[in-house]
Amino acid sequence: AKELGGNRYEVADPEADARAITRHGLTNRLPLALERGEFFIEYQPLIALEDGSIRGAEALVRWCHPVHGVLGPDRFIPLAESTGQIVPLGRWVLQAAARQARSWQSPDGGCAPHVNVNLSPMQLHHPDLVAEVARALDESGLPPASLCLEVTESALIGADEDALKPLRRIADLGVEIALDDFGTGYSNLSSLRWLPVSVLKLDRAFTRGLRHSPPDPVDSKIVEGIVSLAHGLGLTVTVEGVETRAQAEQLRALGCDTGQGWYYGRPGPPEALHKLAMADA
Ligand code: C2E
Ligand code: CA
Ligand code: CA
Ligand code: CA
Repeated sequence: AKELGGNRYEVADPEADARAITRHGLTNRLPLALERGEFFIEYQPLIALEDGSIRGAEALVRWCHPVHGVLGPDRFIPLAESTGQIVPLGRWVLQAAARQARSWQSPDGGCAPHVNVNLSPMQLHHPDLVAEVARALDESGLPPASLCLEVTESALIGADEDALKPLRRIADLGVEIALDDFGTGYSNLSSLRWLPVSVLKLDRAFTRGLRHSPPDPVDSKIVEGIVSLAHGLGLTVTVEGVETRAQAEQLRALGCDTGQGWYYGRPGPPEALHKLAMADA
């Protein structure tokens, strides 16, 4: 602690300093990292709960940093959001994931028909979004119905009709839209009536209580209620964070359609998903 005079001390926090320096360094390097190909994508399987078959995969970006090693998205997506760098990065993820999914669909590519790509709020409000989605489909040859864009609830909260127009146009192309992290933040069930979404992704927070047998009765009721509401509105339900077999069975019994989580597979290289799909076929 440094004495400032009187009884006032400024407490030095070397760890906070280090974090700030790293944050600064990471932020500065983002454009170069994209140019140098330091980002890569892992894919996590999406499984049909009914029969255990592969429905597709979610694309999750990572950064192979020359000094810090592999960084998860939580370390750099918020930084990329704050500088606008998320726009070119997100474009790259979309294009790469579309190409990857297209290659899975070739005759010997296995059968993982869907790829899910996360869209950040800034991308959602970018004027070129519709054109970029159309271009990624066009360049890869991926059928629109094989692409699902995941947007978070919080990105859509308060969005007026104008702000939703691009999303509607994308849905009109035949692309699926999923409402990600549903149930975190300010859940507004009535928003499901007018948002152009066809998939509800239930956040891990909801499925945690179902990890063990017998499951938490309140959590079961909540999931059951959400599923019945979603199905009543014509939406399918994907659940995140399926870590145990008990959970998978519970969620299936509660009527959830698709599961994602460590029980089925961690995020991994595209080859791992390919192998899983081949074994499944
Ligand atoms: P998310 O969209 O909610 O993605 C699911 C996260 O849960 C992933 O973390 C995944 O690795 C993790 N996960 C999957 N199954 C399990 C499980 O059974 N148990 C537990 N405990 N965790 C599980 P990850 O890869 O660290 O991604 C974190 C977040 O970063 C994502 O959350 C997403 O919001 C964001 N993100 C990832 N890739 C992109 C991207 O390309 N663009 C944008 N805008 N955001 C991305
Ligand atoms: Ca997601
Ligand atoms: Ca999610
Ligand atoms: Ca989540």
